[in-house]
Amino acid sequence: MSSYDAIILGAGAAGLMCAAVAGQRGRKVLLIDHADRPGKKILISGGGRCNFTNIHTAPDRFRSANPHFAKSALARYGPEDFLALVERYGIAWHEKTLGQLFCDGSARQIVDMLLEECAKGGVELRLGHPVSEVDHGDGRFRVSCGGSEAVAPALVIATGGPSIPKMGATGFAYDLARRFGLKVVEPRPGLVPLTLGGEDVLFRSLSGVAAEVVASADRIAFREAALFTHRGLSGPAILQISSYWQNGQPIEIDFLPDRASGWLVAEKQQRPRTTLRKLLGSALPDRLAETLAERLGIGAELGNSPDRALAEAERRLSAWTFHPNGTEGFAKAEVTTGGISTAELSSRTMEATRVPGLYAIGEGVDVTGWLGGYNFQWAWASGWAAGQAL
Ligand SMILES: Cc1cc2nc3c(=O)[nH]c(=O)nc-3n(C[C@H](O)[C@H](O)[C@H](O)COP(=O)(O)OP(=O)(O)OC[C@H]3O[C@@H](n4cnc5c(N)ncnc54)[C@H](O)[C@@H]3O)c2cc1C
Repeated sequence: MSSYDAIILGAGAAGLMCAAVAGQRGRKVLLIDHADRPGKKILISGGGRCNFTNIHTAPDRFRSANPHFAKSALARYGPEDFLALVERYGIAWHEKTLGQLFCDGSARQIVDMLLEECAKGGVELRLGHPVSEVDHGDGRFRVSCGGSEAVAPALVIATGGPSIPKMGATGFAYDLARRFGLKVVEPRPGLVPLTLGGEDVLFRSLSGVAAEVVASADRIAFREAALFTHRGLSGPAILQISSYWQNGQPIEIDFLPDRASGWLVAEKQQRPRTTLRKLLGSALPDRLAETLAERLGIGAELGNSPDRALAEAERRLSAWTFHPNGTEGFAKAEVTTGGISTAELSSRTMEATRVPGLYAIGEGVDVTGWLGGYNFQWAWASGWAAGQAL
């Protein structure tokens, strides 16, 4: 049996960061993953270019049962810290939009950088074997994996969430946390397309059409592109909203977020011969304009439509209500909302308050970022916080 200062389960974003930090602080670290390669989600992230952080990182861009929990870790390891690391490795990057930083080249550069950082800390990496057993006694954790056993006074749960199971994602973090008596906030697919049924099914014929909208639900709104799909709705605005959407809730879409109140009646006065279809066509993709005009039932020239009907059409265009009947599930979810409850974790070190030596970091914890590099920033920050404490 080999002994270590810390055993980290999961060589993803958070586990690699945590291992590198602890290793470089002189800790003897074993990093275990059942996958044959580390950082698989990093490799496929951001379309292969890894949206590795967001310069607008702030605690309100994360969802958690305790919105204050992420503050400490994010304040101590921010986007500028990760960016400094990226620059030390000479990795070229660019800001795409909304503060999202991507590699110019490939996500592989981020994985290589983290592996190099782990190597500098003498981290031992054990890949390709499932963890068969975890025991705890006398203040030590014993982990059996690939026919050998390792023991350490500290164990870090960094096995992520169950989104995209075909990438090797599992709910192992939750099973392990529960075994140690930690609570788990119901895990749900986040940053995931929504499916439409009922009356809304008619919109499926718009599959492939996208428009910039404001999507809102549960008192939060996102202005980004929405995309109609053959199953329902996707695109950044919808993915963002999906992390806040609850089953049975409607979502609202403002198709014309830049129009001032009363614009349609004003158009009628200025251009009585024009039609709603034409007006919508000047602001929205053609097929969408046609569908919306048809569904609003205003085919006549504006001059022949009562003001009341136009005001009602304007209202519906600014708050079009969809009733999603579900999501595309963990198979398509970029993240998992919910997870190991923060109530029993130290926000400074990520250590379980009632189980000394047990830590949880990354996506397995009930902290979920918005789309746009926030989830990696949480993985880096929580991994760094635990790495400092090990
Ligand atoms: C397609 C896609 C694109 C994404 N793009 C971005 C992006 O551009 N920017 C961004 O910020 N976020 C992105 N995300 C989200 C981001 O990848 C995750 O939030 C982040 O990887 C979480 O880090 P983690 O270390 O907690 O978990 P992971 O990176 O998922 O790592 C967990 C590790 O644990 C291992 N593991 C799981 N179960 C076990 C087990 N039982 N035993 C041993 N090992 C186990 C896994 O193999 C994995 O290596 C994307 C996600 C997906 C799916």
